[in-house]
Amino acid sequence: MSENHFDIIVAGAGPAGLTAAIYAARGGVRCAVAGGVAPGGQLLETTEIENFPGFPEPTTGPDLMMRMIKQARRLGAQVLQEQLSACDLSARPFTLTVGAKKLTCDSLIIATGARARWLGLESETKYRNKGVSGCATCDGFFYKGKTIAVVGGGDSAAEDALFLTKFAEKVHLVHRRDQLRAAHRLQEKIRANPKVEIVYDHVPEEFLGGDRLETLRLKNVRTGEKKDLAVSGAFIAIGHDPETAVFGDALKKDAEGYLVTDARCATSVEGVYAAGDVMDPHYRQAIVAAGTGCMAAMEALKYLQEKKG
Ligand code: NAP
Repeated sequence: MSENHFDIIVAGAGPAGLTAAIYAARGGVRCAVAGGVAPGGQLLETTEIENFPGFPEPTTGPDLMMRMIKQARRLGAQVLQEQLSACDLSARPFTLTVGAKKLTCDSLIIATGARARWLGLESETKYRNKGVSGCATCDGFFYKGKTIAVVGGGDSAAEDALFLTKFAEKVHLVHRRDQLRAAHRLQEKIRANPKVEIVYDHVPEEFLGGDRLETLRLKNVRTGEKKDLAVSGAFIAIGHDPETAVFGDALKKDAEGYLVTDARCATSVEGVYAAGDVMDPHYRQAIVAAGTGCMAAMEALKYLQEKKG
């Protein structure tokens, strides 16, 4: 077989993809990971992690991911720092375009994760990278001593708000309901932090300013009243959408676009498995992603074994 053929290709290099690669490589098959330009997935944008077992002291997302990449490579998986741009599942072996290369595989594990969601306001696009950001870890540093807003009420928003207090003078946490969704422990930390003020029952209506963002106009969802916050930054943390565009309509998806699998991570195409956030709208945790990555790899190995007869 050509050097561009693999028994298993894993698309995505977050905790799901890398765990799948670790298991596939240990299973004795040829395995490549299409990891994108910066392998590591969403955890690269996470700060402190204190709920991944095995780390009694908090670790960071990038540190955890670098360890997983190193581990996968040591066991023999080829972690490619190139983007998956096309995928043909209509013929076997499957063909994938990864960077400039055409790679083929007998089994595919999709672990492409999910991408941050935007509000969809025109003014949000206008001020993107001019005050509006989707990545607190990347851009927080630029807001030393400033007043900023974080939009959302989940773990990401709460975590971002806390992280941003390291730089900002004041953080408005804007949430559309009267209750946060974030984990209890994060809510406690938020409430104990004097720099964070929670603005309940409000949604962003418009981002305003000159060259850069100066004002976030909010609407009260109960009364319809408008309110302006003077902010130089606004971080959007309102959830994620699964990354499935490259697979077109080849695989069954649910109404939200998540890949549909059976209890053993098998998708609607035989030999194609899915793991992690791309198939999990519910838990979306690194440890769950790693768990489903392991399951997908074990199923793919079994599929290859049965195919050989
Ligand atoms: P999420 O849990 O889906 O929360 C999204 C938040 O944004 C919700 O509060 C939601 O409001 C709000 N929202 C959604 N669409 C909106 C819109 N158009 N306008 C205004 N607000 C909107 O997403 P997430 O916080 O990114 O977390 C995703 C998953 O990752 C979760 O399972 C979370 O537990 C996990 N996570 C874990 C950690 C950790 O353990 N350290 C850190 C980050 C994320 P409603 O509440 O009204 O729905």
